[in-house]
Amino acid sequence: SMNELQCVGCGVAIQTTDKEGLGYAPPSSLEKEKIICQRCFKLKHYNEVQDVSLTDDDFLKILNEIGRTDSLIVKIVDIFDFNGSWLPGLHRFVGNNPILLIGNKVDLLPKSVKPAKLIQWMKHEAKELGLKPIDVLLVSAGKGNFIKEAVDAIEQYRNGKDVYVVGCTNVGKSTFINRIIKEVAGEEDVITTSHFPGTTLDMIEIPLDDGHDLIDTPGIINHHQMAHFVDKTDLKIITPKKEIKPRVFQLNEEQTLFFGGLGRFDYISGGRRSFTCYLSNELNIHRTKLENADELYERHAGDMLQPPNKEGMDEFPEMVRYEFSVKEGKMDVVFSGLGWVTINEPGARVAAHVPKGVQVLLRKSLI
Ligand code: GDP
Repeated sequence: SMNELQCVGCGVAIQTTDKEGLGYAPPSSLEKEKIICQRCFKLKHYNEVQDVSLTDDDFLKILNEIGRTDSLIVKIVDIFDFNGSWLPGLHRFVGNNPILLIGNKVDLLPKSVKPAKLIQWMKHEAKELGLKPIDVLLVSAGKGNFIKEAVDAIEQYRNGKDVYVVGCTNVGKSTFINRIIKEVAGEEDVITTSHFPGTTLDMIEIPLDDGHDLIDTPGIINHHQMAHFVDKTDLKIITPKKEIKPRVFQLNEEQTLFFGGLGRFDYISGGRRSFTCYLSNELNIHRTKLENADELYERHAGDMLQPPNKEGMDEFPEMVRYEFSVKEGKMDVVFSGLGWVTINEPGARVAAHVPKGVQVLLRKSLI
């Protein structure tokens, strides 16, 4: 049976169905005498790391092990999905080790946003979430922006110690590490692996020039992200690839915006005013009257209101409503993994609808 097959590289059980999962190998490779999982294959032949997701239990084991080391921890978050990609509770596990917080995908935010302001905002949010990073940086691993700065900061703060890079899946951790490899190691075949006791997966070690390593840890899946409720095609639509163009709507009371069929924003009261939507440019925004919104969703989710597509509607969770009153400041209503709506002035009552299981929150405006 399948269960008997193991990767000759890392020893995990081989499977051929889940391309992103642990131990994936293409079905054709099963005919070979020595089977190697896709992750080990890439590592061996291309010096390239690929993220593999872990169960929550294994992830906690890894964090506990990191807590026992004397090291610098680099935590990567996706600036477009800051809260959704946060990794709550990291500070409880990592002991006294300093944490360098890196916000990736800065290329997605409008160019008009000042990096210094974003960094201030990240520091503020980190503090609210119980983390006091040694420093906060912004990068675009995808575009290669500020990688040199990140390498320099890591070099400065690691102080001759090992570096552990952590982050949840999809934050761009592999893209970041692969940039770092090119920066510190060139194209040489230098990557090794090591093992934490009790975990199913090897860590990937990139040797630094003083006998210490930069270690890539597997990513953890954040179950409340929108990404888990849509298929591959729809994920492409909701994941921004380019600079987000803010879309501004002048709304009267009792008007509704649908973000495809994945999110819904009701403006309840507070007088005529503007709202700014930060979503993937490819995601359709449909405006309607609040009183018609329920029926419109019933009738048109999966066709006029998509993603999700028609097939996806069968398993799509029910929508859940969250109401907010904004009393002060400029605030964002965040639809985890989808984007956010900025309420530019206080005094508004709004509601956000998302598929059951997806997180919604109100935060101090990022932009
Ligand atoms: P991992 O799961 O954390 O290892 O993430 P990956 O490195 O596989 O990246 C996840 C997705 O984010 C991929 O589609 C990448 O192309 C994309 N990505 C990574 N870095 C960036 C970035 O700096 N900007 C943008 N726009 N996309 C990025």
